[in-house]
Amino acid sequence: MFTKQQVPDEIIKLAQKFQDAGYELYLVGGSVRDIFLQRNSEDYDFTTNALPDDTERILRDWANVVFDVGKKFGTIAGIKYANNRVDEQANDDKDVKVEITTFRADEYDGKTRKPVVSFGDNIADDLCRRDFTVNAMALRLPNVEFVDLHNGLSDLNAKVLRTPIEPDISFADDPLRMMRAVRFVSTLKGYEIERETYDSIVKNAGQIQKVSNERVRDELEKLLLGADPVQGIKMFVNTGLSAYVLPELPALMLTTDPQHHHKDVYAHSLKVLQQAVDLEPEYTGRPDLILRLAGLLHDIGKPRTRRFGENGKVMFYNHDAYGAKLTKQILTRLRFDSVTVNQVAELVRLHMRFYGYMDAGWSDAGVRRYVHDAGELLPRLHALTRADVTTQNKRLSDRLSFAYDDLEQRIVKLREQEELDSIRPVLNGDEIMEILHLKPSKQVGEAYKFLLDRRMELGVETKDEAKKALLEWNSAISNE
Ligand code: ATP
Ligand code: MG
Repeated sequence: MFTKQQVPDEIIKLAQKFQDAGYELYLVGGSVRDIFLQRNSEDYDFTTNALPDDTERILRDWANVVFDVGKKFGTIAGIKYANNRVDEQANDDKDVKVEITTFRADEYDGKTRKPVVSFGDNIADDLCRRDFTVNAMALRLPNVEFVDLHNGLSDLNAKVLRTPIEPDISFADDPLRMMRAVRFVSTLKGYEIERETYDSIVKNAGQIQKVSNERVRDELEKLLLGADPVQGIKMFVNTGLSAYVLPELPALMLTTDPQHHHKDVYAHSLKVLQQAVDLEPEYTGRPDLILRLAGLLHDIGKPRTRRFGENGKVMFYNHDAYGAKLTKQILTRLRFDSVTVNQVAELVRLHMRFYGYMDAGWSDAGVRRYVHDAGELLPRLHALTRADVTTQNKRLSDRLSFAYDDLEQRIVKLREQEELDSIRPVLNGDEIMEILHLKPSKQVGEAYKFLLDRRMELGVETKDEAKKALLEWNSAISNE
Protein backbone atom coordinates (compact mmCIF):
# COMPACT_ATOMS: atom_id res chain seq x y z
CA MET A 1 0.00 0.00 0.00
CA PHE A 2 2.96 2.32 0.49
CA THR A 3 5.43 2.97 -2.23
CA LYS A 4 8.83 4.59 -2.22
CA GLN A 5 7.35 7.45 -4.22
CA GLN A 6 5.52 8.64 -1.13
CA VAL A 7 8.78 9.14 0.71
CA PRO A 8 11.33 11.74 -0.44
CA ASP A 9 14.40 10.31 -2.21
CA GLU A 10 16.74 11.85 0.33
CA ILE A 11 14.95 10.01 3.15
CA ILE A 12 15.34 6.70 1.33
CA LYS A 13 19.08 7.43 0.96
CA LEU A 14 19.35 8.14 4.69
CA ALA A 15 17.54 4.90 5.51
CA GLN A 16 19.91 3.02 3.21
CA LYS A 17 22.85 4.31 5.25
CA PHE A 18 21.28 3.01 8.46
CA GLN A 19 20.66 -0.35 6.84
CA ASP A 20 24.24 -0.55 5.53
CA ALA A 21 25.46 0.10 9.09
CA GLY A 22 23.25 -2.74 10.35
CA TYR A 23 20.52 -0.68 12.01
CA GLU A 24 16.75 -0.41 11.69
CA LEU A 25 15.15 2.92 10.86
CA TYR A 26 11.43 3.71 11.08
CA LEU A 27 9.48 6.78 10.13
CA VAL A 28 7.09 7.12 13.03
CA GLY A 29 4.41 9.09 14.88
CA GLY A 30 2.80 12.22 13.44
CA SER A 31 4.90 11.89 10.27
CA VAL A 32 3.23 8.59 9.31
CA ARG A 33 -0.23 9.80 10.38
CA ASP A 34 0.20 12.90 8.23
CA ILE A 35 1.01 10.84 5.13
CA PHE A 36 -2.42 9.19 5.48
CA LEU A 37 -4.07 12.52 6.12
CA GLN A 38 -2.25 13.92 3.07
CA ARG A 39 -0.89 16.73 5.15
CA ASN A 40 2.59 18.11 4.79
CA SER A 41 4.66 17.24 7.80
CA GLU A 42 6.95 20.04 8.91
CA ASP A 43 9.67 17.53 9.59
CA TYR A 44 10.24 13.81 9.71
CA ASP A 45 10.43 11.88 12.98
CA PHE A 46 12.28 8.57 13.09
CA THR A 47 13.05 5.91 15.61
CA THR A 48 15.97 3.49 15.48
CA ASN A 49 17.83 0.82 17.43
CA ALA A 50 21.09 2.72 16.89
CA LEU A 51 22.37 4.48 20.00
CA PRO A 52 22.65 8.30 19.84
CA ASP A 53 26.40 8.36 19.08
CA ASP A 54 25.93 5.99 16.15
CA THR A 55 22.91 7.93 14.94
CA GLU A 56 24.96 11.10 15.00
CA ARG A 57 27.79 9.51 13.01
CA ILE A 58 25.44 8.24 10.28
CA LEU A 59 23.52 11.50 10.20
CA ARG A 60 26.76 13.50 9.68
CA ASP A 61 27.38 11.45 6.57
CA TRP A 62 24.02 12.58 5.11
CA ALA A 63 22.93 15.94 6.53
CA ASN A 64 24.39 19.40 5.98
CA VAL A 65 23.86 20.30 9.63
CA VAL A 66 23.48 18.06 12.64
CA PHE A 67 22.44 19.20 16.05
CA ASP A 68 21.92 17.67 19.43
CA VAL A 69 18.36 18.39 20.51
CA GLY A 70 18.45 16.03 23.46
CA LYS A 71 21.11 13.37 23.21
CA LYS A 72 20.44 12.37 26.80
CA PHE A 73 16.92 11.48 25.70
CA GLY A 74 18.24 9.85 22.56
CA THR A 75 17.33 12.52 20.02
CA ILE A 76 19.59 13.90 17.26
CA ALA A 77 18.36 16.20 14.51
CA GLY A 78 19.66 17.05 11.07
CA ILE A 79 18.85 19.11 8.00
CA LYS A 80 19.62 18.13 4.43
CA TYR A 81 19.52 21.21 2.22
CA ALA A 82 17.47 21.20 -0.93
CA ASN A 83 19.57 20.03 -3.90
CA ASN A 84 19.62 23.30 -5.72
CA ARG A 85 20.23 25.42 -2.68
CA VAL A 86 22.49 28.24 -3.78
CA ASP A 87 23.22 30.27 -0.69
CA GLU A 88 22.92 30.01 3.05
CA GLN A 89 19.31 31.19 3.01
CA ALA A 90 17.07 28.60 4.57
CA ASN A 91 14.72 27.05 2.07
CA ASP A 92 11.96 25.83 4.33
CA ASP A 93 9.89 24.28 1.57
CA LYS A 94 12.51 21.99 0.18
CA ASP A 95 15.00 21.33 2.97
CA VAL A 96 14.49 17.95 4.60
CA LYS A 97 14.46 18.15 8.40
CA VAL A 98 14.73 14.97 10.43
CA GLU A 99 14.71 14.02 14.10
CA ILE A 100 15.94 10.59 15.03
CA THR A 101 15.32 9.08 18.47
CA THR A 102 16.64 5.80 19.80
CA PHE A 103 13.83 3.32 20.65
CA ARG A 104 12.26 4.34 23.92
CA ALA A 105 11.66 2.16 26.90
CA ASP A 106 11.58 5.02 29.36
CA GLU A 107 10.26 4.76 32.81
CA TYR A 108 9.22 7.62 35.02
CA ASP A 109 10.46 8.22 38.52
CA GLY A 110 6.88 8.52 39.75
CA LYS A 111 7.33 11.99 41.17
CA THR A 112 8.69 14.66 38.90
CA ARG A 113 7.38 13.04 35.71
CA LYS A 114 10.79 13.56 34.14
CA PRO A 115 11.47 10.46 32.14
CA VAL A 116 14.28 8.33 33.45
CA VAL A 117 15.51 7.33 30.07
CA SER A 118 16.37 3.84 29.19
CA PHE A 119 16.75 2.87 25.57
CA GLY A 120 14.82 -0.03 24.14
CA ASP A 121 15.85 -2.59 21.56
CA ASN A 122 12.64 -3.09 19.62
CA ILE A 123 10.01 -1.15 17.76
CA ALA A 124 7.08 -2.77 19.61
CA ASP A 125 8.10 -1.37 23.01
CA ASP A 126 8.64 2.02 21.44
CA LEU A 127 5.16 2.11 19.90
CA CYS A 128 3.51 1.16 23.21
CA ARG A 129 4.93 4.32 24.73
CA ARG A 130 3.33 6.65 22.23
CA ASP A 131 0.30 8.74 23.05
CA PHE A 132 -2.41 7.54 20.64
CA THR A 133 -2.81 4.71 18.19
CA VAL A 134 -2.99 7.12 15.25
CA ASN A 135 0.45 8.36 16.36
CA ALA A 136 1.79 4.87 16.94
CA MET A 137 2.15 3.67 13.35
CA ALA A 138 5.57 3.20 11.78
CA LEU A 139 7.07 2.73 8.32
CA ARG A 140 10.24 0.68 8.18
CA LEU A 141 12.65 2.08 5.63
CA PRO A 142 14.22 1.83 3.10
CA ASN A 143 11.92 -0.99 1.99
CA VAL A 144 8.72 0.72 3.18
CA GLU A 145 7.06 -1.87 5.41
CA PHE A 146 4.03 -0.66 7.34
CA VAL A 147 4.03 -1.50 11.06
CA ASP A 148 0.68 -0.98 12.77
CA LEU A 149 0.60 -3.01 15.98
CA HIS A 150 -2.25 -1.02 17.57
CA ASN A 151 -4.65 -0.68 14.64
CA GLY A 152 -3.86 2.99 14.22
CA LEU A 153 -5.03 2.97 10.63
CA SER A 154 -8.52 1.80 11.50
CA ASP A 155 -8.70 4.43 14.28
CA LEU A 156 -7.49 7.01 11.79
CA ASN A 157 -10.28 6.08 9.40
CA ALA A 158 -12.82 6.14 12.23
CA LYS A 159 -11.33 9.43 13.54
CA VAL A 160 -10.77 8.09 17.02
CA LEU A 161 -8.14 8.97 19.61
CA ARG A 162 -7.31 5.92 21.72
CA THR A 163 -4.25 5.06 23.81
CA PRO A 164 -2.28 2.04 22.52
CA ILE A 165 -2.16 0.52 26.02
CA GLU A 166 -4.60 0.78 28.92
CA PRO A 167 -5.31 4.50 29.31
CA ASP A 168 -4.91 4.60 33.11
CA ILE A 169 -1.38 3.23 32.72
CA SER A 170 -0.50 5.47 29.80
CA PHE A 171 -1.73 8.64 31.55
CA ALA A 172 0.03 7.71 34.77
CA ASP A 173 3.28 7.36 32.77
CA ASP A 174 2.84 10.85 31.32
CA PRO A 175 -0.25 12.89 32.26
CA LEU A 176 0.55 15.42 29.53
CA ARG A 177 -1.00 12.89 27.11
CA MET A 178 -4.41 13.93 28.46
CA MET A 179 -3.77 17.50 27.30
CA ARG A 180 -2.54 16.13 24.00
CA ALA A 181 -5.84 14.30 23.55
CA VAL A 182 -7.86 17.49 23.75
CA ARG A 183 -5.42 19.39 21.56
CA PHE A 184 -5.67 16.74 18.81
CA VAL A 185 -9.47 17.17 18.94
CA SER A 186 -8.71 20.69 17.71
CA THR A 187 -5.72 20.16 15.39
CA LEU A 188 -7.01 16.98 13.73
CA LYS A 189 -10.56 18.39 13.58
CA GLY A 190 -13.43 15.91 13.60
CA TYR A 191 -11.70 13.37 15.86
CA GLU A 192 -13.36 12.02 18.97
CA ILE A 193 -11.77 10.65 22.09
CA GLU A 194 -12.69 6.97 22.42
CA ARG A 195 -14.95 6.23 25.42
CA GLU A 196 -12.54 4.33 27.66
CA THR A 197 -9.77 6.83 26.98
CA TYR A 198 -12.16 9.71 27.69
CA ASP A 199 -13.38 8.19 30.96
CA SER A 200 -9.80 7.67 32.02
CA ILE A 201 -9.02 11.36 31.41
CA VAL A 202 -12.04 12.34 33.52
CA LYS A 203 -10.81 10.04 36.26
CA ASN A 204 -7.16 11.12 36.10
CA ALA A 205 -7.54 14.82 35.21
CA GLY A 206 -6.01 15.98 38.50
CA GLN A 207 -2.73 14.28 37.54
CA ILE A 208 -2.14 17.08 35.04
CA GLN A 209 -0.86 19.14 37.97
CA LYS A 210 2.26 16.99 38.02
CA VAL A 211 3.26 18.28 34.58
CA SER A 212 5.23 21.50 34.18
CA ASN A 213 3.22 24.59 33.23
CA GLU A 214 5.38 25.06 30.15
CA ARG A 215 4.52 21.66 28.66
CA VAL A 216 0.83 22.22 29.36
CA ARG A 217 1.03 25.69 27.82
CA ASP A 218 2.57 24.31 24.62
CA GLU A 219 -0.38 21.95 24.16
CA LEU A 220 -2.93 24.65 25.01
CA GLU A 221 -1.29 26.90 22.44
CA LYS A 222 -1.49 24.20 19.77
CA LEU A 223 -5.11 23.55 20.72
CA LEU A 224 -6.01 27.20 20.29
CA LEU A 225 -4.17 27.49 16.99
CA GLY A 226 -5.74 24.31 15.63
CA ALA A 227 -8.49 23.93 13.06
CA ASP A 228 -11.30 23.52 15.61
CA PRO A 229 -10.35 25.31 18.83
CA VAL A 230 -13.95 25.50 20.05
CA GLN A 231 -14.36 21.72 20.04
CA GLY A 232 -10.92 21.36 21.65
CA ILE A 233 -11.85 23.79 24.43
CA LYS A 234 -15.16 21.98 25.01
CA MET A 235 -13.27 18.73 25.56
CA PHE A 236 -10.73 20.53 27.75
CA VAL A 237 -13.60 21.71 29.94
CA ASN A 238 -15.83 18.62 29.78
CA THR A 239 -13.05 16.20 30.73
CA GLY A 240 -12.34 18.31 33.81
CA LEU A 241 -8.77 19.14 32.75
CA SER A 242 -9.53 22.85 32.68
CA ALA A 243 -10.58 22.75 36.35
CA TYR A 244 -6.88 22.24 37.12
CA VAL A 245 -5.28 24.25 34.34
CA LEU A 246 -7.70 27.14 33.79
CA PRO A 247 -10.51 26.98 36.39
CA GLU A 248 -11.66 30.49 35.44
CA LEU A 249 -13.07 29.02 32.23
CA PRO A 250 -15.68 26.59 33.63
CA ALA A 251 -16.46 29.34 36.17
CA LEU A 252 -18.02 31.23 33.23
CA MET A 253 -20.92 28.78 33.31
CA LEU A 254 -22.95 31.04 35.55
CA THR A 255 -26.16 29.48 36.77
CA THR A 256 -28.74 30.63 34.32
CA ASP A 257 -31.63 32.12 36.13
CA PRO A 258 -34.72 32.32 33.91
CA GLN A 259 -35.99 35.32 35.83
CA HIS A 260 -32.88 37.30 35.12
CA HIS A 261 -32.35 35.85 31.70
CA HIS A 262 -28.72 36.67 31.40
CA LYS A 263 -26.68 34.81 28.89
CA ASP A 264 -24.49 31.90 29.73
CA VAL A 265 -21.12 33.63 29.53
CA TYR A 266 -19.31 30.38 28.76
CA ALA A 267 -21.44 29.58 25.70
CA HIS A 268 -21.10 33.19 24.58
CA SER A 269 -17.30 33.07 24.93
CA LEU A 270 -17.07 29.95 22.76
CA LYS A 271 -19.20 31.61 20.13
CA VAL A 272 -17.01 34.71 20.18
CA LEU A 273 -13.93 32.50 19.81
CA GLN A 274 -15.49 30.85 16.74
CA GLN A 275 -16.51 34.18 15.22
CA ALA A 276 -13.02 35.58 15.84
CA VAL A 277 -11.54 32.58 14.00
CA ASP A 278 -13.96 33.19 11.13
CA LEU A 279 -12.85 36.85 10.90
CA GLU A 280 -9.13 36.02 10.74
CA PRO A 281 -8.87 35.95 6.93
CA GLU A 282 -9.97 39.58 6.89
CA TYR A 283 -8.09 40.93 9.90
CA THR A 284 -4.99 38.86 10.64
CA GLY A 285 -4.48 36.70 7.57
CA ARG A 286 -3.49 33.69 9.64
CA PRO A 287 -4.42 31.77 12.81
CA ASP A 288 -3.73 34.27 15.55
CA LEU A 289 -3.03 33.15 19.12
CA ILE A 290 -3.51 36.60 20.65
CA LEU A 291 -6.89 37.16 19.02
CA ARG A 292 -8.08 33.65 19.91
CA LEU A 293 -7.00 33.99 23.54
CA ALA A 294 -8.72 37.37 23.72
CA GLY A 295 -11.92 35.90 22.23
CA LEU A 296 -11.93 33.13 24.80
CA LEU A 297 -11.05 35.33 27.79
CA HIS A 298 -12.70 38.67 26.98
CA ASP A 299 -15.51 38.20 29.54
CA ILE A 300 -13.42 36.37 32.12
CA GLY A 301 -14.06 39.24 34.56
CA LYS A 302 -17.82 38.72 34.54
CA PRO A 303 -18.42 36.18 37.32
CA ARG A 304 -16.65 38.32 39.91
CA THR A 305 -18.23 41.63 38.85
CA ARG A 306 -21.84 40.45 38.53
CA ARG A 307 -24.39 42.57 40.35
CA PHE A 308 -28.19 42.44 40.30
CA GLY A 309 -29.76 45.85 39.94
CA GLU A 310 -33.37 46.95 40.11
CA ASN A 311 -35.93 44.83 38.23
CA GLY A 312 -33.48 41.97 38.34
CA LYS A 313 -31.28 43.61 35.73
CA VAL A 314 -27.84 42.02 35.62
CA MET A 315 -24.78 44.23 35.44
CA PHE A 316 -21.11 43.47 35.06
CA TYR A 317 -19.68 46.80 36.05
CA ASN A 318 -16.04 47.27 34.98
CA HIS A 319 -15.72 43.65 33.90
CA ASP A 320 -13.38 44.77 31.11
CA ALA A 321 -10.83 46.36 33.44
CA TYR A 322 -11.10 43.58 35.99
CA GLY A 323 -10.99 41.00 33.19
CA ALA A 324 -7.74 42.49 31.88
CA LYS A 325 -6.19 42.09 35.31
CA LEU A 326 -7.39 38.53 35.62
CA THR A 327 -6.18 37.73 32.08
CA LYS A 328 -2.69 38.87 33.05
CA GLN A 329 -2.72 36.64 36.11
CA ILE A 330 -3.97 33.62 34.19
CA LEU A 331 -1.62 33.90 31.22
CA THR A 332 1.38 34.63 33.44
CA ARG A 333 0.57 31.59 35.53
CA LEU A 334 0.40 29.53 32.33
CA ARG A 335 3.86 30.86 31.37
CA PHE A 336 2.87 32.68 28.21
CA ASP A 337 5.51 35.19 27.12
CA SER A 338 5.08 38.78 28.26
CA VAL A 339 4.15 40.16 24.83
CA THR A 340 1.29 37.68 24.55
CA VAL A 341 0.20 38.33 28.15
CA ASN A 342 0.12 42.10 27.72
CA GLN A 343 -1.47 42.16 24.30
CA VAL A 344 -4.28 39.77 25.21
CA ALA A 345 -4.94 41.72 28.43
CA GLU A 346 -5.02 44.97 26.48
CA LEU A 347 -7.60 43.59 24.04
CA VAL A 348 -9.73 42.44 26.97
CA ARG A 349 -9.44 45.92 28.49
CA LEU A 350 -10.50 47.59 25.23
CA HIS A 351 -13.26 45.24 24.13
CA MET A 352 -16.16 47.42 25.39
CA ARG A 353 -14.79 50.75 24.15
CA PHE A 354 -16.75 50.70 20.93
CA TYR A 355 -20.06 50.77 22.80
CA GLY A 356 -19.39 54.43 23.63
CA TYR A 357 -19.42 55.01 19.89
CA MET A 358 -22.73 53.21 19.57
CA ASP A 359 -24.39 55.31 22.25
CA ALA A 360 -23.17 58.75 21.39
CA GLY A 361 -21.11 58.65 18.23
CA TRP A 362 -17.59 59.93 18.73
CA SER A 363 -15.89 63.16 17.90
CA ASP A 364 -12.73 62.90 15.81
CA ALA A 365 -10.91 63.04 19.13
CA GLY A 366 -12.69 59.86 20.26
CA VAL A 367 -11.70 58.07 17.07
CA ARG A 368 -8.07 59.24 17.42
CA ARG A 369 -7.95 57.96 20.98
CA TYR A 370 -9.35 54.59 19.95
CA VAL A 371 -6.68 54.16 17.29
CA HIS A 372 -3.96 55.49 19.58
CA ASP A 373 -4.90 53.23 22.49
CA ALA A 374 -5.24 50.13 20.31
CA GLY A 375 -1.90 50.81 18.60
CA GLU A 376 -0.71 47.76 16.71
CA LEU A 377 -3.61 45.77 18.17
CA LEU A 378 -6.17 47.66 16.06
CA PRO A 379 -6.90 44.93 13.45
CA ARG A 380 -7.35 42.40 16.26
CA LEU A 381 -9.55 44.81 18.20
CA HIS A 382 -11.73 45.23 15.11
CA ALA A 383 -12.06 41.44 14.82
CA LEU A 384 -12.70 40.94 18.54
CA THR A 385 -15.33 43.67 18.80
CA ARG A 386 -17.19 42.37 15.77
CA ALA A 387 -16.91 38.78 17.03
CA ASP A 388 -18.37 39.83 20.38
CA VAL A 389 -21.79 40.36 18.80
CA THR A 390 -23.67 37.12 19.38
CA THR A 391 -27.19 38.39 19.89
CA GLN A 392 -30.03 36.48 18.21
CA ASN A 393 -31.77 39.79 17.64
CA LYS A 394 -31.10 40.47 13.96
CA ARG A 395 -31.98 44.15 14.09
CA LEU A 396 -29.62 44.75 16.98
CA SER A 397 -26.80 42.79 15.44
CA ASP A 398 -27.19 44.63 12.13
CA ARG A 399 -27.17 47.94 13.94
CA LEU A 400 -23.93 47.03 15.74
CA SER A 401 -22.26 45.84 12.61
CA PHE A 402 -23.24 48.96 10.60
CA ALA A 403 -21.96 51.14 13.44
CA TYR A 404 -18.67 49.29 13.35
CA ASP A 405 -18.45 49.65 9.56
CA ASP A 406 -18.94 53.35 10.13
CA LEU A 407 -16.20 53.51 12.74
CA GLU A 408 -13.75 51.69 10.48
CA GLN A 409 -14.56 54.07 7.63
CA ARG A 410 -13.94 57.06 9.83
CA ILE A 411 -10.58 55.63 10.83
CA VAL A 412 -9.69 55.26 7.15
CA LYS A 413 -10.68 58.86 6.43
CA LEU A 414 -8.81 60.29 9.38
CA ARG A 415 -5.81 58.22 8.41
CA GLU A 416 -5.80 59.78 4.97
CA GLN A 417 -5.70 63.22 6.58
CA GLU A 418 -3.21 62.60 9.36
CA GLU A 419 -0.59 60.15 10.43
CA LEU A 420 -2.98 58.53 12.88
CA ASP A 421 -0.67 55.73 13.87
CA SER A 422 2.08 57.94 15.16
CA ILE A 423 0.17 60.62 17.01
CA ARG A 424 2.61 62.71 19.00
CA PRO A 425 2.36 66.21 20.40
CA VAL A 426 3.31 68.87 17.89
CA LEU A 427 6.29 69.82 20.10
CA ASN A 428 8.75 67.25 21.38
CA GLY A 429 10.29 67.03 24.86
CA ASP A 430 13.37 69.11 23.96
CA GLU A 431 11.23 71.86 22.49
CA ILE A 432 8.97 71.87 25.56
CA MET A 433 12.00 72.24 27.85
CA GLU A 434 13.40 75.07 25.76
CA ILE A 435 10.12 77.01 25.61
CA LEU A 436 9.41 76.64 29.33
CA HIS A 437 13.07 76.82 30.44
CA LEU A 438 12.79 73.50 32.20
CA LYS A 439 15.18 70.69 33.02
CA PRO A 440 13.92 67.10 32.69
CA SER A 441 11.25 66.84 35.37
CA LYS A 442 7.73 65.77 36.16
CA GLN A 443 6.48 69.08 34.83
CA VAL A 444 7.86 68.30 31.37
CA GLY A 445 5.82 65.11 31.44
CA GLU A 446 2.69 67.03 32.36
CA ALA A 447 3.30 69.54 29.60
CA TYR A 448 3.78 66.66 27.15
CA LYS A 449 0.48 65.14 28.23
CA PHE A 450 -1.25 68.50 27.85
CA LEU A 451 0.00 68.78 24.26
CA LEU A 452 -0.89 65.17 23.48
CA ASP A 453 -4.46 65.73 24.68
CA ARG A 454 -4.60 68.86 22.54
CA ARG A 455 -3.33 66.94 19.56
CA MET A 456 -6.10 64.36 20.07
CA GLU A 457 -8.76 67.02 20.41
CA LEU A 458 -7.73 69.36 17.63
CA GLY A 459 -5.79 67.29 15.14
CA VAL A 460 -2.71 68.84 13.56
CA GLU A 461 -1.80 72.44 14.45
CA THR A 462 1.30 74.54 13.77
CA LYS A 463 4.24 74.71 16.15
CA ASP A 464 3.49 78.37 16.83
CA GLU A 465 -0.09 77.60 17.81
CA ALA A 466 1.09 74.81 20.09
CA LYS A 467 3.75 77.06 21.63
CA LYS A 468 1.19 79.75 22.40
CA ALA A 469 -1.16 77.23 24.02
CA LEU A 470 1.69 75.74 26.02
CA LEU A 471 2.73 79.10 27.43
CA GLU A 472 -0.86 79.89 28.39
CA TRP A 473 -1.21 76.49 30.06
CA ASN A 474 2.03 77.08 31.93
CA SER A 475 1.07 80.48 33.28
CA ALA A 476 -2.36 79.14 34.27
CA ILE A 477 -0.86 76.34 36.36
CA SER A 478 1.84 78.63 37.81
CA ASN A 479 -0.90 80.95 39.07
CA GLU A 480 -2.79 78.18 40.79
P1 ATP B 1 2.10 17.69 15.23
O1 ATP B 1 1.55 17.44 13.90
O2 ATP B 1 1.36 18.73 15.99
O3 ATP B 1 3.59 17.89 15.28
P2 ATP B 1 2.74 15.11 16.32
O4 ATP B 1 1.86 13.91 16.45
O5 ATP B 1 3.85 15.06 15.35
O6 ATP B 1 1.80 16.35 16.05
P3 ATP B 1 4.70 15.81 18.28
O7 ATP B 1 4.51 16.55 19.56
O8 ATP B 1 5.49 16.44 17.19
O9 ATP B 1 3.25 15.42 17.77
O10 ATP B 1 5.33 14.40 18.67
C1 ATP B 1 5.76 13.45 17.68
C2 ATP B 1 5.34 12.03 18.06
O11 ATP B 1 5.95 11.68 19.30
C3 ATP B 1 3.85 11.87 18.30
O12 ATP B 1 3.17 11.57 17.10
C4 ATP B 1 3.81 10.72 19.28
O13 ATP B 1 3.95 9.48 18.63
C5 ATP B 1 5.04 10.94 20.12
N1 ATP B 1 4.81 11.72 21.35
C6 ATP B 1 5.03 13.05 21.52
N2 ATP B 1 4.75 13.43 22.78
C7 ATP B 1 4.38 12.32 23.45
C8 ATP B 1 3.99 12.04 24.79
N3 ATP B 1 3.91 12.99 25.72
N4 ATP B 1 3.68 10.76 25.11
C9 ATP B 1 3.74 9.79 24.18
N5 ATP B 1 4.10 9.98 22.91
C10 ATP B 1 4.42 11.22 22.53
MG1 MG C 1 5.42 16.62 15.02
